Amino acid sequence: MENPLTPEVLADPVALTRALVDIESVSLNEKAIADCVEQVLRAVPHLTTHRYGNTVMARTELGRAQRVVLAGHLDTVPLNGNFPSSMRGDLMYGCGTSDMKSGVAYALHLAVTLPDPRYDVTYFFYEGEEIEQKYNGLHLVAEAHPEWLQADFAVLLEPTYGIVEAGCQGTMRAVVTTVGERAHAARSWNGVNAIHGAGEVLRRLTTYEARRVTIDGCAYREGMNAVRISGGVAGNVVPDRCDIEVNYRFAPDRDPAAAEAHLREVLDGFELTVTDVAAGAAPGLDAPVAQEFLAAVGAAPIGKLGWTDVARFAAMGIPALNFGPGDPNLAHHKDEHVEISKIRDGAATLHRWLAPA
Ligand SMILES: [Zn+2]
Repeated sequence: MENPLTPEVLADPVALTRALVDIESVSLNEKAIADCVEQVLRAVPHLTTHRYGNTVMARTELGRAQRVVLAGHLDTVPLNGNFPSSMRGDLMYGCGTSDMKSGVAYALHLAVTLPDPRYDVTYFFYEGEEIEQKYNGLHLVAEAHPEWLQADFAVLLEPTYGIVEAGCQGTMRAVVTTVGERAHAARSWNGVNAIHGAGEVLRRLTTYEARRVTIDGCAYREGMNAVRISGGVAGNVVPDRCDIEVNYRFAPDRDPAAAEAHLREVLDGFELTVTDVAAGAAPGLDAPVAQEFLAAVGAAPIGKLGWTDVARFAAMGIPALNFGPGDPNLAHHKDEHVEISKIRDGAATLHRWLAPA
């Protein structure tokens, strides 16, 4: 295949977004797009390029005092009648336009066109973000080659509609189990109904007042919800067990241990098993390089409520935030699209930030 990422395309973030969208790259099928990106980066004299699986990274080695990462995933969710791209006025439609080939286009455009950025830059293009962690290129490289990711600050180019979404909340899943004693439903007084016992769990969750907290000027809002419930033996049996799955989204000033302690406090008296947890990430906006980024954006940051890969950077001690032109509300939708003017605005912002002083 001839590489569609030609010099003219690479020079224009909008044309580049469209060219990237038109290389199909549903998760586990990123080879073609990774090949194209790798070929482009290897031809750039001011970059050192590595590849791991279908993850490609390139870095400047200018001896700057600080290094930043610009990161974007190459994969998309499955196509849904939205491939290839199409234009309608100021809008570019297609799978991956918002999430997140417009963001990937920023990084690739800057990698090629900015030989002397103000900081050393690591451009990181990775596979497998939309599926399980074991396929996630950022996770895999963090395990295999953590030195490739060493940096003072990272920008994840996920859709944020042109504002800064900083940090991210953590997420914990737990199963609360109520126990009873089986009996014939015709003589229910001989048993204890575990499903009825779940009522108190649900009451506590219903009346729970979720905390709001502001960290580095970013507001986070927690939530604790029953997300699944199961129980019951037969139509004529008083049930002896009911499991309520609870999902707790917690602000990044709580680590997983503090989050679990709080969950246990709210559901005190019930059997509770934590089944899954992912730590959040503090916004990390006090770092000077982050402050310079915020100044280039010129709009107040907000807290990221959903869990994102910024937490993987945070786990490596690298403050990270999300910034991209796409509308996060459109991600994974059939009519996913991105505004051309948003692509241009964000590209100008990143250029302002990274261009030599
Ligand atoms: Zn994404």
